[in-house]
Amino acid sequence: MSSTRFDEITALCKRRGFVFQSSEIYGGLGATYDYGPLGVELKRNVREQWWRDMVYANKNIEGIDAAILMHPRVWEASGHVDAFHDPLIDDKASKRRYRADQLVEQHIDRLRSKGKTERADTVQKRFTEALNAEDMPKALHSLILSEEIRGPDSGAFDWTDVRQFNMMFETKVGALAGEDSSIYLRPETAQGIFVNFQNVLATSRVQIPFGIAQIGKAFRNEIVARQFIFRMREFEQMEMQYFVHPGTQLEAYELWRSRRWDWHVRNGIPASKLRWHVHEKPAHYADAAVDIQYEFPIGWQEIEGIHSRTDYDLSRHQEYSGKKMQIFDQASGSRFIPYVVETSAGLDRTVLMLLCEAYRKDVVEGRSRTVMAFAPSVAPIKVGVFPLLRKDGMPERARAITDALRREWNVFYDEKGSIGKRYRRMDEAGAPLCITIDRDTLEGEGVTVRNRDTLEQVRVADGQVPAFVSDAMRGAA
Ligand code: ATP
Repeated sequence: MSSTRFDEITALCKRRGFVFQSSEIYGGLGATYDYGPLGVELKRNVREQWWRDMVYANKNIEGIDAAILMHPRVWEASGHVDAFHDPLIDDKASKRRYRADQLVEQHIDRLRSKGKTERADTVQKRFTEALNAEDMPKALHSLILSEEIRGPDSGAFDWTDVRQFNMMFETKVGALAGEDSSIYLRPETAQGIFVNFQNVLATSRVQIPFGIAQIGKAFRNEIVARQFIFRMREFEQMEMQYFVHPGTQLEAYELWRSRRWDWHVRNGIPASKLRWHVHEKPAHYADAAVDIQYEFPIGWQEIEGIHSRTDYDLSRHQEYSGKKMQIFDQASGSRFIPYVVETSAGLDRTVLMLLCEAYRKDVVEGRSRTVMAFAPSVAPIKVGVFPLLRKDGMPERARAITDALRREWNVFYDEKGSIGKRYRRMDEAGAPLCITIDRDTLEGEGVTVRNRDTLEQVRVADGQVPAFVSDAMRGAA
């Protein structure tokens, strides 16, 4: 699926240094991307917002940073070796590969958007049955054929069978590639948390219910990799596992559903662009699962999953490692394996959502401009500082203000080109404020501060600038 708006956003990402194709000079590597100077700031800000909200704001949540490489038994215990598959199907006409389940989901969405609700409900029912069928690939294949779903790129109706494909990347460890040296790049960060569960419990003061949070890379050999940073083979996850008393997991699940939704809204995503998507067939470990979806220009897509994972992971690790995964409950004097509720958000997908939401075009004084209207908390550059002219002491004053702000904020100093062009550059980078030093500044009249969104310009005394910027970044100005 493509969209002009999405294409414009990806073009802007490259032009302004948010995101580049990985290894571009060698023709690029599929579904892997590098973040440029603006992108890395945006991503860091999202990461920090998440960490502050999950770890610092909750006295019962601790952070960790586990290794990407883990003992191969971890992935046997977690079920990934046997069950981390996606059903793939090839369009013989275009030679393109798709996820069979997603073809059906998109077909249902199309039916609904055309008002064919009854038909959509019937297909939905058959889809659920297919996902639960013993021979799931075969059932999905028949559904695609009977619904006459066509290749999204070719429009053809010429499919291969549906096959299961394991998405873990395998590599060798050590100097000699022996039989026992195969390991995997982790496909999710969650298992790093489960295997450290007792370590965290033993070394911190947390008591059940408590959470462990982690942000880090994950790797999946994705079949469909044509959606920019939406679906990558190397990406980052922001995950939190919340350990609770068995029987209380659904309460915790509801709590984290609403807290995660609110976090996205606080980052500037309107609630009207978010929706819930309940899993038809929760993953093998879950007793309830829901996704938060965002309305991307390419359609509604998942950005975060909230899963009630039962005691599946800890029980399996207890079984496979022989180590106790229980905790002692003082109140009842008994031991038990906690249940777990997980919040699992894609860092890169959150960044893409913020890019899509921020992107807009408008006309100012008869000239069109592109604006990235990021919330101040995530904006990669907070303030642009310009001397109106490159003379009469204006650059010196502008640099002094830049230096004063730089201690706390990412500030961009620019003295080249017309003032209109400099504003437009900062609008495209998404800087909420621009400060201009002009003749009046030299005469003690303060600086001009321009607001990116309202275009309002106010004069602020030199000495008040840091406080003014602070208030604006915290949403108080
Ligand atoms: P999808 O159905 O889109 O493949 P998933 O349900 O497999 O996603 P989870 O395993 O629940 O995803 O992972 C949690 C989060 O990690 C997702 O909500 C998403 O934001 C992110 N994520 C998963 N796979 C990728 C990927 N290939 N590229 C970027 N982000 C990803």
